[in-house]
Amino acid sequence: MSPPSGVKVVVIGAGLAGLSAASTLVKAGFQHIQILEAMGRPGGRVHTTRPFGQDIIELGANWIHGQEGNPLFLLAQEQDLLLKENSSAKTMCLPGSITSKDYFFEESGRQLTMDEVEKVCTLFSKLTSKAFDSELQPKHSTQSLGGYLDEEFSQSPLALSVAGQRLFEWCKRSECTDEASSSLYEVSAVQLGHYVALEGGFFNSLGPGGYQALADTLLDSVPPGALLCDRPVDSIHWALDEEIHTHPVSVQCQGGQSFKADHVIVSVPLGFLKVKAAAMFEPALPTSKTSAIRNLGFGIVDKIYLRFENRFWPDDCAGIQLLWDAGPEDEKVYKQSQSDNGAWRDTWYKKICGFDTVARHPNVLCGWITGREAEHMESLDEKIVGEVCVRLLRSFTGWSVPEPAQVLMSKWGSEPFVRGSYTYPPPGVDAVREHTALAAPLPQPCDARYSQAKPLQVLFAGEATHINFYTTTHGAYMTGIREAQRLINLYADRINVKVKM
Ligand SMILES: Cc1cc2nc3c(=O)[nH]c(=O)nc-3n(C[C@H](O)[C@H](O)[C@H](O)COP(=O)(O)OP(=O)(O)OC[C@H]3O[C@@H](n4cnc5c(N)ncnc54)[C@H](O)[C@@H]3O)c2cc1C
Repeated sequence: MSPPSGVKVVVIGAGLAGLSAASTLVKAGFQHIQILEAMGRPGGRVHTTRPFGQDIIELGANWIHGQEGNPLFLLAQEQDLLLKENSSAKTMCLPGSITSKDYFFEESGRQLTMDEVEKVCTLFSKLTSKAFDSELQPKHSTQSLGGYLDEEFSQSPLALSVAGQRLFEWCKRSECTDEASSSLYEVSAVQLGHYVALEGGFFNSLGPGGYQALADTLLDSVPPGALLCDRPVDSIHWALDEEIHTHPVSVQCQGGQSFKADHVIVSVPLGFLKVKAAAMFEPALPTSKTSAIRNLGFGIVDKIYLRFENRFWPDDCAGIQLLWDAGPEDEKVYKQSQSDNGAWRDTWYKKICGFDTVARHPNVLCGWITGREAEHMESLDEKIVGEVCVRLLRSFTGWSVPEPAQVLMSKWGSEPFVRGSYTYPPPGVDAVREHTALAAPLPQPCDARYSQAKPLQVLFAGEATHINFYTTTHGAYMTGIREAQRLINLYADRINVKVKM
């Protein structure tokens, strides 16, 4: 059985959410699927490149977060896309997850012992796990993650040593890469309990095709021509009178091309919605949705790749981590920076956590930076960023560090159709309510104005619409399937398909 042959679905955005929605609908028998992608390539925040030769560099997503219950991991396994050999390079595990091969340096050039490092990192990991496992006390309910961590750490003897404090600051700076936040003082401690970390670790890296191979697998199941790149959507007109218009929704692209649809799945990033949603929808979005778009946080994580002609770090070194005397995640420094009239820009580089070695690239290091400092870095020339990184590496390690042969940095904050990296819950926000509101289709069943209108005209997918797996690729992938399933259910009497989530 198939859905009615005339049903037209437009999917906006060809990231993993949009592609999984389209692929699921095609498999269920929908015949008219059009994917409109603003950029010149599919993938969105999956961006696999080859700037340093044959082997891949991921400018966006890198890891599959967990294996058990992860449908994206299963897909990668089924399609034989997982890495076969073991690699010891640091980019096999998350930034901030230290290995015994990480070298930690203070500003003075002193290298810390692994014993010093492990004690603080282990405590930090225990404290953050309490937040993620919903084990916080009621007194933490209104606190930021940074505030909660400071309070708990101050009770540990490790807080009495200067090195302990510097390491703790580094741990917080590093955790900002997981939360995509400018600072942990801008993330809710208690709301993190809604995020679900899947079992199975992060060591399941993708093979030589990288994340793009997963996107390609989804694309393979949609007919040629279903994807149109370089088609930025300007506006979505829904609830059109079907006596006048043949379809209830009309999608207008920049340049004037328009597409009629019965259903539109909007999978654009939250960062894009923050800037454009007010002008994009006609009728305007309901307040529940505009509040969700405003209240949820969407921060920047950037990578800085440095390729050297020759490797200058020891063979057993998996990462060079930088401990400032007083770094940006130090409570006092953070508070001062709130009223320093932008003086933090002069020391933006202090937000760089360190430089990790990179799988398959023996001469490449990857630096990590987040938040407003990342946004500032994006405005600088790559040559200048490279010079700053080399200056840091030289002054912290005392090693003879050559000039890099190539510098490549991501610019997720200034990417016009993304405007950030991923979603986080700020303090005081009811994240479950906001993710749910963001995901709700239009027209809302409770809205009397549209009681006679066709259901499910505008649907919303994308990582920010997932309550438990926001920020992740598998979250994005599952939301695409979720929205496709809504449409499949709508036409259920004519389709005999149930999709696995
Ligand atoms: C640096 C970085 C590292 C990351 N690391 C990981 C990781 O290791 N593991 C992990 O699980 N996740 C990671 N993520 C997050 C992950 O990449 C995202 O959660 C996921 O890819 C989001 O998919 P999506 O389909 O929701 O959105 P996107 O991939 O952003 O897709 C949305 C698409 O909509 C398009 N679009 C926007 N506006 C318009 C418009 N007006 N018209 C048409 N198209 C439009 C965009 O161009 C984009 O292609 C990382 C992200 C970044 C940036």
